[in-house]
Amino acid sequence: MTDHEVVIAGGGPTGLMLAGELALARVDVVIVERRLSQDLAGSRAGGLHSRTIEVLDQRGIADRFLAQGQVGPVGYFAAVPLHLGDLPTRHNYLLALRQERIERILAAWVDELAVPVHRGREVSGLVQDATGVDVELSDGRSFRAEYLVGCDGGRSLVRKRAGIDFPGWDPSISYLIAEAEMAVEPPSGIRRDEKGTYALGKLEDGKRVRIVLREERVGQGDEPTFRELREALVGLYGTDYGLHDVTWLSRFTDMTRQAASYRNGRVLLAGDAAHVHSPMGGQGLNLGVQDAVNLGWKLAQVVNGSSPESLLDTYQTERHPVGARVLKTTMALTALSRGDDRMDALRETMSELLRMDEPRKRSAAMMSGLDIRYDLGAGNPLLGRRMPDLDLVTERGPQRVFTLLHQARPVLLNLGEPGVLDVTRWANRVQLVDGRYTGQWNLPVLGPVAAPSAVLIRPDGYVAWVGDQSQQGLADALFTWFGPPAAA
Ligand SMILES: Cc1cc2nc3c(=O)[nH]c(=O)nc-3n(C[C@H](O)[C@H](O)[C@H](O)COP(=O)(O)OP(=O)(O)OC[C@H]3O[C@@H](n4cnc5c(N)ncnc54)[C@H](O)[C@@H]3O)c2cc1C
Repeated sequence: MTDHEVVIAGGGPTGLMLAGELALARVDVVIVERRLSQDLAGSRAGGLHSRTIEVLDQRGIADRFLAQGQVGPVGYFAAVPLHLGDLPTRHNYLLALRQERIERILAAWVDELAVPVHRGREVSGLVQDATGVDVELSDGRSFRAEYLVGCDGGRSLVRKRAGIDFPGWDPSISYLIAEAEMAVEPPSGIRRDEKGTYALGKLEDGKRVRIVLREERVGQGDEPTFRELREALVGLYGTDYGLHDVTWLSRFTDMTRQAASYRNGRVLLAGDAAHVHSPMGGQGLNLGVQDAVNLGWKLAQVVNGSSPESLLDTYQTERHPVGARVLKTTMALTALSRGDDRMDALRETMSELLRMDEPRKRSAAMMSGLDIRYDLGAGNPLLGRRMPDLDLVTERGPQRVFTLLHQARPVLLNLGEPGVLDVTRWANRVQLVDGRYTGQWNLPVLGPVAAPSAVLIRPDGYVAWVGDQSQQGLADALFTWFGPPAAA
């Protein structure tokens, strides 16, 4: 007897997104969150990339984020501007929005979906067996769950207690990050020296200053002192600008590690619990939200009995390589953030390359997450790639593809002769939509591709099968992704 089908440790961006995905699939899920509210001390992530905005759009909630943020047409790779305007997506921009706001919007969505959030307590231990996990809480209580997902950040207790290794690279640089007032107006902007970058900039209130300073030596712990901040400021700027009233002070590093496995039995990891890296390139939150969208529907199908547990293996095979690539990219960005003559020369070379159309488009697609291709085998170029948000004409009138995904249910989209495809034996799981689309199919990086006459779209928006009215391979794909058919 379980208390809940799924317990999520941690209600940051990843845990909240996962909870929403599971709730849409009617899974009995709860979040256990250490913080008493969604308040977030200081600044962390500053925005969302295109693919993350797309996955939110697939759930019908992108507008909530767009309404509170500011869109910008340019991204960056190692300070080299990357124009995003010609990325083939509706969301061909960066959305500047602070993490606290992102979390609040996600928390409100999760609340609408009636997910209980147990705040002010921690997951303090776990014991798993063949049928479930006993999740111990800091208040002495415990929950029995079928699955536990650790979305509890870089220091994940769940990861440690599940005995999952976290190999990678120790930090090569550390930064102090703070919000404070200064008696003297400081210079705004980013500076660079042979050890790294540092920056000062006014916060939204026009009064406080956001301070990010590389440290002389790699610092330890995330509770640095006022004195360390002052000394670092004087060391880099020659003055402390009358620093006072520090409202927030923390430290981050470029430590780069990835969980050896995203799953041990009934315990799974997502977000920072599964990977940590330098914030350069603004990837972490985006990666975590997309982990959650990959895992959510799979875990839901396993929990509700429509798919075997082996479906969860595809979470690892699909998301681990995506995380590994982000780790490598952030390591490159950290190296390129140094400002000695050789690094300056390398950055100039990169900058020349990235001014060329093809490399720019590739890098923009990579940084925005639009170029992800899960390895679902050889075949049509659409296979394993994100489904574009086409403007369809259906029997219900004009409809966007992403609208069909709002309930996180798979879609078999028939673009050929209506009424020919048959999913009767998966009808309780897969929506069959007859539609017409006459425009071009244009994919990130690849450019135009031939229009298929039918595609099977997973709840996370990735294409699981491409075919035609012969339906060749369709039953296999339905079986693989959505479980055995209902008895005839
Ligand atoms: C300075 C800085 C700048 C950044 N900039 C960007 C950026 O621009 N773009 C970007 O995408 N990313 C950025 N990031 C990274 C981003 O902040 C993280 O990747 C993101 O917060 C990860 O989300 P998460 O939900 O996986 O983990 P977290 O946000 O760490 O959330 C984990 C949650 O779990 C809770 N918790 C922890 N332990 C327990 C426990 N035992 N029991 C219950 N609850 C627990 C915590 O209270 C927390 O709410 C930045 C990070 C830093 C430090």
